[in-house]
Amino acid sequence: MNKPVLVLLAFALFACAQKRSVVEVAPSPIAVPTVPVDHMGELARYGSDAVLWQHASAEAYRLQQQGYELARLRLVENLKVADKRPPAVIVDIDETVLDNSPYQVAAIAIGHTFDQASWKAWTDRSAAAAIPGAVAFLQYARSLQCNIFYITNRDLRERATTLRNLDSLGFPQADEAHLLLMEGTSDKTERRARVASDHQVVLLVGDQLRDFDERFKDRSVNDGKSTVDTMADTLARYFILLPNPMYGTYRDAVQGKGTDEEKHRNMDEWFQRNGK
Ligand SMILES: [Mg+2]
Repeated sequence: MNKPVLVLLAFALFACAQKRSVVEVAPSPIAVPTVPVDHMGELARYGSDAVLWQHASAEAYRLQQQGYELARLRLVENLKVADKRPPAVIVDIDETVLDNSPYQVAAIAIGHTFDQASWKAWTDRSAAAAIPGAVAFLQYARSLQCNIFYITNRDLRERATTLRNLDSLGFPQADEAHLLLMEGTSDKTERRARVASDHQVVLLVGDQLRDFDERFKDRSVNDGKSTVDTMADTLARYFILLPNPMYGTYRDAVQGKGTDEEKHRNMDEWFQRNGK
């Protein structure tokens, strides 16, 4: 084939290709169904980085160790202050002495958020690992004659499985007299007062500021940070705060306590508002 014929053939093929590419398809008369938004799945995805960090990062592991190292220093200092009452250390349980990040990982894997039934199934297994540093610290406090009290918002149905879990890991005084479960309110003020009525409370450890003082429930002004500043001296001396970005008052203050749809909308709106 000579050269002009080849050129003409190439133009013809190009023209055909062009023609095919501009053929318009008539709009389908069938309406495309809208896919419903998976609000629970979206909320679960919002939490995935936090859960990954808590469960798998060496940073969380180290911060937990560090928290309990600081706890030893504060404990020794506070025990120097004489008091006739027996000394006590108060600890929260979840994300303070027991690690529930496997429950959170499993929930994200299936696009679910927290619910009481799956939580109960998890605690029924008594399978949570200890937070790094927690067992050794509480055994140390016990060796210094401190009484250990576990104040938790696990409920009364979780008493036996929680004690079994704590005991299996070597936590001291894992018995009914030293476990104060939630009875009606998540506010721990009255339970702390009960311990303080006949003990000198020398230290508290928690993963929420509410584990120290209920005033931290209020995040309406400056996200609660001004309350931290107001109580700075007391916090520094008597409270060890451990990391937990997976859940808590900080998130509830943004999401609210409504349906997954409402929580999802509140989260979206928060990012839109604050991302400007
Ligand atoms: Mg906790």
